[in-house]
Amino acid sequence: MMPVVIRPAAPAFDSSGTPFSQEFADVYHSAASGPGQSRHVFLCGNDLPARWARKRLFTVVEMGFGIGLNFMATWRAWREDRERCDRLHYVAIEKHPFTRRDLVSLHARYPEFASTSTTLCAAWPVAVPGMHRLHFDRGQLALTVCFGDAKDTVPELVLTAEAFYLDGFAPDRNPDMWTPALMKALGRLAAPGATLASYSTARAVRDALADAGFATERRAGFGPKREMLVGRFAPRWPIRQPVHHTHAASEKSAIVVGAGLAGTSLAERLCARGWRLDVVERHPAPAWEGSGMIAGVLQPHVSRDDSILSRFTRAGFLYAREHCMNLAALPSSASNRCGVLQLAGDAAQESRMAETLSQLGYPQEYAQYRARADAALLAGHVLDTGGWWFPAASWIQPAPFARSQLAAAQSHSGTTLSLHFGREVESLRRRGERWQALDGNGQAIAEAAVVILANAQDASQLTDLGPACLQRVRGQIAEVPAPPFPAPQCVVCGNGYVLPASDGYAVVGASYEPGNADSAPGDAATAANLARLARLLPGSTACIDQALLRSQVGFRCVAPDRLPLLGAIADLAAARMHASELSGAHLPELPRIPGLFGAFAYASRGPAWCALASEWLACELEGEPSPLERSLGYAVDPGRFALHRLRHGAL
Ligand SMILES: Cc1cc2nc3c(=O)[nH]c(=O)nc-3n(C[C@H](O)[C@H](O)[C@H](O)COP(=O)(O)OP(=O)(O)OC[C@H]3O[C@@H](n4cnc5c(N)ncnc54)[C@H](O)[C@@H]3O)c2cc1C
Repeated sequence: MMPVVIRPAAPAFDSSGTPFSQEFADVYHSAASGPGQSRHVFLCGNDLPARWARKRLFTVVEMGFGIGLNFMATWRAWREDRERCDRLHYVAIEKHPFTRRDLVSLHARYPEFASTSTTLCAAWPVAVPGMHRLHFDRGQLALTVCFGDAKDTVPELVLTAEAFYLDGFAPDRNPDMWTPALMKALGRLAAPGATLASYSTARAVRDALADAGFATERRAGFGPKREMLVGRFAPRWPIRQPVHHTHAASEKSAIVVGAGLAGTSLAERLCARGWRLDVVERHPAPAWEGSGMIAGVLQPHVSRDDSILSRFTRAGFLYAREHCMNLAALPSSASNRCGVLQLAGDAAQESRMAETLSQLGYPQEYAQYRARADAALLAGHVLDTGGWWFPAASWIQPAPFARSQLAAAQSHSGTTLSLHFGREVESLRRRGERWQALDGNGQAIAEAAVVILANAQDASQLTDLGPACLQRVRGQIAEVPAPPFPAPQCVVCGNGYVLPASDGYAVVGASYEPGNADSAPGDAATAANLARLARLLPGSTACIDQALLRSQVGFRCVAPDRLPLLGAIADLAAARMHASELSGAHLPELPRIPGLFGAFAYASRGPAWCALASEWLACELEGEPSPLERSLGYAVDPGRFALHRLRHGAL
C-alpha cells in the first residue's frame, strides 16, 4: 500500500468572511453562525446532552473535524451538563487537518470557545497520518482525531458509536464522504439506537443511509437552510455485530506482573479509570531490568513504505510525548527534548533517506532531512553524513519515567494501587472467575479478575506462548565521564547512539547481541561501543581512556517481527483441539484465555510504545474506542503467531 501523505488545509474565507475550503469549494459552516449550527444541527439533532445523561461511556463519531467547532460545542455542552456521562469519547475523521498555528488563528473568530480552543490547540497533533488520541478534563474526555481519507479510516475504527455527526463538505463537492459504502461502514460501528445528524438532506445521502440501516427524517434546518437530517440506527435486518468485540472485564481489578515501563504505564492508564491494581515486581523497585538502563532514545521510526512498525511507533511516540508532559513527578532532568539526528551510513543511504522523506511529506516539526553540513551544525560536531532530523524527539531516563508513572497512578482518585516489590510470581491459578498470582510456596500474592503479563521475556514462564518465540537480546551501553570530545547538542544515532552529556557523562550505546546471556559488562561490547561513537562523531574517541568508562548491561525482549505482544492471550490448548475448524480463522475467532492479557516484547522501543500500548489495553478492557487502527491492533495481537501456524496446519 502506498504511504498516506497528509496535506494540511489552507485557511481561506468566502465573501461573507466564513472559513472556506478551496479544495472542496465549500464553507466550513453556515454563514449564520458556526457555533449556532453545531448546537442546532449536531447536538440537538442527536438529542444531546440528554442521550449521554448518567451513562458510563458515550461515543460520538464525527465525519470531518474541520475547524473543530462541533467538538468544542460538544465539549462545552458536556462540561456544563451536571448529568454528563462519566467518559466521553469524540472520534473525528479529517483528511486535511489545519495546522496548530492556523487553528489558533481561526479559533480567534469564536470567542465563546476561547478556553477550550487554548487547551485543544496546545495538544493539537502534527499533520501525520493515523490516529491521535488526546485527553482533556482530567482524562474524562478523549478526542481521537484520525488523519486520513474517510474510506480508509472508518473501516479501521474499533468502537461502538452512539451518535454520528455527518459534517463533510456538501455531497456534490465531496462525494467521497457520503458514499453508500462509507455509510454502511458507519452502520457497522453503530450501537443499537445510535443517532445521526447532518445539515445535508440530499436524496443520495438519505438513500445511502437507509441502505445502511438508518431511518432518517427531515427537521427544520439552521440559518438559511430550510431543512436538516436526523436519523436513528434501526436496521430491518438482525444486527450481526451490535457492539465491537472487546474483552471488557466485569470487575475492575487486575494483577500486573512486572514494574518496568510496560507495567508502570499500565498501572497509570488503568488507575486513571478507577481500577484496583496489584503490581507485582520481583526486584525491590521499579525499572530494574530492561527499563533500568541509564537513558534511552525516544524517537519516531520512519520507513519508505510506512511499515506497521513505523505506524505503531509514530502513534506511540506522539502519545508518549504528551503523556510525559502530564507526568507531574517526572523530573525535568530525566529527559531532554534536544532533538534526534539519525545519520545515514553512507552517501547512498543519505540520498535514499532524503528521497524517503520527500515522498512521505511529513511536516517539519516531525521530521526533516538535513544534509551533512546542516546536521553538523545541529550536532555541534563534525559528521561524515547527513540524515533525518526529528526536532521533537528526545532522550529519557527510563527509571524516573517508570517511577513517575507509578506516582501518577497513585494520584488518581477512586483507585487502589498495591505495590508488591521483592515478590516473584512463580505461577498463575484460575479460581472461578478470578486469577491468583502465586509465589514459589504456592501462596497467593494477589487475586483479581484480570492478569496482565508485563514481565517481558518471563511472560513465557507464566503461560504457553507457543510459536511466539521471544528473543532475549543483550545490550551494553557505555558512559563516558567528562567527555574528552565536544559532546553533541542533540542525540546522534545511526548504528547506535550517543546522547548529549548529562550529569557529566555522555551515554553511548548500545550493543545488540542475541544469544549472549552474560549479564556482566564485557570488553568486546565496550570496544564495539567506542567504534560506534567513532563512526557517529568522527575523531571523538582519540582521547578516551577505556579504563574510565562505566558500562551497563540489560536485555531486550524481542518478538520475531519486532512488534510487541499486546492484548488477550490465545488459548493454545483450545486452539490445538479445534485446529481444523480454525485453519481459516481470523484473529477475533481465536480462542482466548479468559482474563489473561499480555503487554510485553517492547524490543528497543519501550519508551515510545509503553503509554499508548497501555491506553490501548485499558480501552480493550473497558470497551472504549480503540486509540489504534484495527490493522495495528491485529499486528500486535499476541495470537498472531498461533494463527499463522493454524493456517499452515502446524500449531
Ligand atoms: C541496552 C539497552 C538499550 C536500550 N536503549 C533503548 C533506547 O535507546 N530507546 C528505547 O526506546 N528503548 C531502548 N531499550 C529498550 C527498552 O529499555 C525496553 O523496551 C523497555 O525497558 C522494556 O520495558 P518492559 O517493562 O517491557 O520490560 P522490563 O523493564 O524488563 O520489565 C519487566 C519487569 O518484569 C519483572 N518480572 C519478570 N518476571 C517476573 C515475575 N515472574 N514476577 C515479578 N516480576 C517479574 C522484571 O523484574 C522486570 O522489572 C534498550 C534496552 C536495552 C537493554
